[in-house]
Amino acid sequence: MALPSFLIKDVIFPITDTVSGLKVSYYNKFLKKSQWWTHEKLQEYQNKRLRIIIKHAYETVPYYHQTMKKQKLKPENIKQPDDLKKLPILTKQNIRQHRQQLQSTKPGKYKQNATGGSTGEPLNYIVGYDSLSIGISAMYRAWHEAGYQFGDKIITIGGRSIVSGKKAFSKKAKDTLEGQHFLSAFSMNDKTMLKCVNEINKIKPTVIRGYACALNELAKYIEQENKEITYKPKGIVTTAEKLFPKQRQNIENAFGTKVFDNYGARDGNPNAFECKEHTGLHYSMELAIIESLKDNEPVQDEPGEFIVTDLHNHALPFIRYQVGDRGIMNGSCSCGRGLPLIKELSGRIQDFVETEDGTKIHGEFFSHIFWDTPGIEQFQIYQKKKGSIELRLVANKDFNEKQIEKVKTIITKNFPLEVKIKLVNKINKPSSSKYRIITKG
Ligand SMILES: [Zn+2]
Repeated sequence: MALPSFLIKDVIFPITDTVSGLKVSYYNKFLKKSQWWTHEKLQEYQNKRLRIIIKHAYETVPYYHQTMKKQKLKPENIKQPDDLKKLPILTKQNIRQHRQQLQSTKPGKYKQNATGGSTGEPLNYIVGYDSLSIGISAMYRAWHEAGYQFGDKIITIGGRSIVSGKKAFSKKAKDTLEGQHFLSAFSMNDKTMLKCVNEINKIKPTVIRGYACALNELAKYIEQENKEITYKPKGIVTTAEKLFPKQRQNIENAFGTKVFDNYGARDGNPNAFECKEHTGLHYSMELAIIESLKDNEPVQDEPGEFIVTDLHNHALPFIRYQVGDRGIMNGSCSCGRGLPLIKELSGRIQDFVETEDGTKIHGEFFSHIFWDTPGIEQFQIYQKKKGSIELRLVANKDFNEKQIEKVKTIITKNFPLEVKIKLVNKINKPSSSKYRIITKG
């Protein structure tokens, strides 16, 4: 049962916000407007938020207080994104090593979060409710651009927690009310994909969203098996990994509608979305500052490493955080939004592991396992032949041998795979953009 748009917007969201302490309703309205601000006004907003977060970090976060003191910096020395270069870059390893000192003594309401698996480096951290709220609203803004209205049906083809395997009742109830449905991308074969096509045709969601390579797989299946999507969805939203042009073409052909690519990371909260012009992804300046750097210098029109500063996470400020993504920053869009464009994204290239019968398991399945496995700094999956994998892990002192069995059990309980776990000292990451968590050959 889906409810009318106004009920979701004007009743459900405000009630959920009051109960939970989130500000999704507020940010929904804010982001709807702010995207049409001029670039200068958006810069002013960024400067204002940056000054607040820097002052907060200096006053309540021991790690930043010490870092700034060492560099002889006061909050007033960092007023705009350009000034950020005075501060060092924050890596995932820094966060793992200094987690306690990085947490604010005045964190406000926050929750535990885990992520980073799609770049092969899992990370646990805390996120404040303000950051969480604007992140959720930014996701809705991106869906709206693809044609979604609150209350419309939407199907997600993605992953969900396979470790705990449960979803809070309140979340389930909210999803149902909002018209959200879920199909797993963790096991793709002819049988599950046929089921997926049938579900889509039955539910007729306004928008379908999912991992780019999972949607591409489904699109190829639809074409090859002469299946049909019997109605026209308003849009397809791809997320979580790089979307290749060929994949976009396959998906648009199979579903008979346009693809809207999205970019986001929970850690550091960078966000970008494609508009109806399809000339790139609008970088959501309201959420985070994204510096695109090459040899520590800002670059435009060529690939740069993304360094992000979350403008809203007061619980654990991510300031100049190396998120692990790369892209090409490139000018403005003819749609009139003041948000600049990211022309191309790279850094998260996903793939499938295959079982002997050809079932494809999306790489995020493995990332999800490490959300709940402490002590893993990096991982990579090597598949030489179907049905077996070698899992390469870089572990630290929080990892113990028992977890090897636990990881193996989670995998083999879900899929017929022969699993060999190899602890290694290092996994080399190429300096170019092509990092893959699944390697084959
Ligand atoms: Zn645009």
